[in-house]
Formats: sequence, structure tokens, C-alpha cells
Amino acid sequence: MSVRVVLLGPPGAGKGTQAAKIKEKWDAAHVSTGDILRDNVKEGTQTGLLAKSYMDAGRLVPDDVMIDMIRSRLSRGDAAKGGFILDGFPRTPTQAAALDRILEEMGLRLDAAILLEVSDDEAVRRLSSRRVCQDCGAIYNIIARRTKEEGVCDVCGGSVIQRDDDQEGVIRDRLMVYRERTSPLIDYYADKGLLHRVDGTRSSDAAMLTLESIVAG
Ligand code: AMP
Repeated sequence: MSVRVVLLGPPGAGKGTQAAKIKEKWDAAHVSTGDILRDNVKEGTQTGLLAKSYMDAGRLVPDDVMIDMIRSRLSRGDAAKGGFILDGFPRTPTQAAALDRILEEMGLRLDAAILLEVSDDEAVRRLSSRRVCQDCGAIYNIIARRTKEEGVCDVCGGSVIQRDDDQEGVIRDRLMVYRERTSPLIDYYADKGLLHRVDGTRSSDAAMLTLESIVAG
């Protein structure tokens, strides 16, 4: 049984954390466009060079770059056959329409769009205390989930850092961009009957439980 899910919600809603849990349970590909972009920046690819200034400013990377990226990622066997959890894509109505086209070409359809809801204050609190592993992407928090050894990833031993765009000024910009450009997708998926709202401040298993009930019908 494979699942094909979009995770929606503002930065700090817990999309990455929920996606990791869903991946573990359903063995679907966790496709985080933010992680793919950060890998490109680290490797100094042309996409990375282009994306960096947008990311540092908390702005969105142009749609055409993101659509090409997701098309090539979804065509890989793990996602095409085993299902996927999209974390951070789509972020604009143009990207959502492109995703529909790509899935239609592949003969696939989405099972659900799960919206993780948190307040702006909670998002800022979470993001400013978030730390991530530069190597494997594991997510930590200096208040709620510390590494065993300061600055060292429990999973892979990589170095755990604060993302440049998790500084408070940039966080506020990212929340504004979410409200202006991404929140119209809530109605987009509601109109298709695919939207499921989950309280992102409650149990961190909430999205997985919602998905279980959707898949069970
Ligand atoms: P995230 O890790 O999902 O918070 O993404 C980090 C940054 O990568 C965002 O603030 C954007 O600059 C960029 N980004 C990630 N996904 C997208 C997307 N689907 N469209 C445009 N920009 C994106």
C-alpha cells in the first residue's frame, strides 16, 4: 500500500517531523524541496547558486526551477512506485497546478493534503529554537529535543547547526510569504475534497493518524 500526500502549513508547523514519521510507517519517499535545495547549495550546483539568495531572504525560489526539480524527483522509482510525502511543495498555485499535471502524466493521484496548523507565535518559537543536522537533516530543538552531545547529530554524527533562515527576522518574512503565496492552496485542495486539517500543536503523531484513517477509508 503506498501513500501520496502533500503536507501543507507554515514554516515551523512540523512538516519535516511529521514527514519523517509517515515515511517510517509507510515507507514512502520523503521529498523535501528545502532539503534538495540545501544539498544543491552545499554542492555549489547552478541551482544552488541561483536558489541561495532567495532562501537566505526567506523568499520563494522561482516556480520553473521548483517544478523541474519536483518532476525529476517524482519520476524516480521510489516515489513513482512506493508513494511520496511532499514536504515544502507545492508553495504557490502555479506549483500546485504543475503537480496535478505531472501526476496525471504519471497516471497517479494524490490521497490527501494535510494542513498542519500552528499560530505565528508558536512557529517563531519553534523555528528560532530549531537546529538541524547539516549531513542527514535530522531535526532537533534546543528546548524540547537536544542532541546527546552538544552540536553532534545523534543519528549520523554530523554537525548540528541553526539554519541561516531560522533567524527571527527571516522567520517573520517566511511567515508573510506563506500567508501571501502559499495559503491560497488551502482552498485549492479543499475544493478538490483532499484537505485534512490537523492541529500542529497537538500530538506529533497527528498527521500520521489522520493519514491512517484516510487510507483505511
Ligand atoms: P523549507 O526547508 O521547506 O522551509 O524551505 C527553505 C527555503 O527553500 C524556503 O524558504 C524557500 O526559499 C525555498 N523553497 C523550498 N521549497 C520551495 C518551493 N516549493 N518553492 C519555492 N521555494 C522553495
